[in-house]
Amino acid sequence: MKLLNCWEINKCERQRDGKKAKKLGECIASKEGMGHSCWAVAGTLCGGKIQGTFAQKIGFCTSCKVYAMYNRSRGNRGKVINKIFSTEEKKYYNKMLESFDY
Ligand code: SF4
Repeated sequence: MKLLNCWEINKCERQRDGKKAKKLGECIASKEGMGHSCWAVAGTLCGGKIQGTFAQKIGFCTSCKVYAMYNRSRGNRGKVINKIFSTEEKKYYNKMLESFDY
């Protein structure tokens, strides 16, 4: 099963070597290798502007098809992510924990 990265799904071209990355900058989701967990990463570039923290952008992300597929508890392909992308899975959980205020 091929699980596309967010930049392949949304065709933002802000990934490393993307058509817009040289002029506008590479998105942090690409820099961090988080193409299947991008909503957990603060400062992504979806919609052509810098998105905030997880808490600030989650309303935007819950309407995104990447979230609908890959969110670990709600996504229709969320359960397969940790089997295929274990490094990203660990980063995802660490970033989610960092984003919560205890
Ligand atoms: S998080 Fe958004 S802007 Fe960033 S690479 Fe993924 S789809 Fe593109």
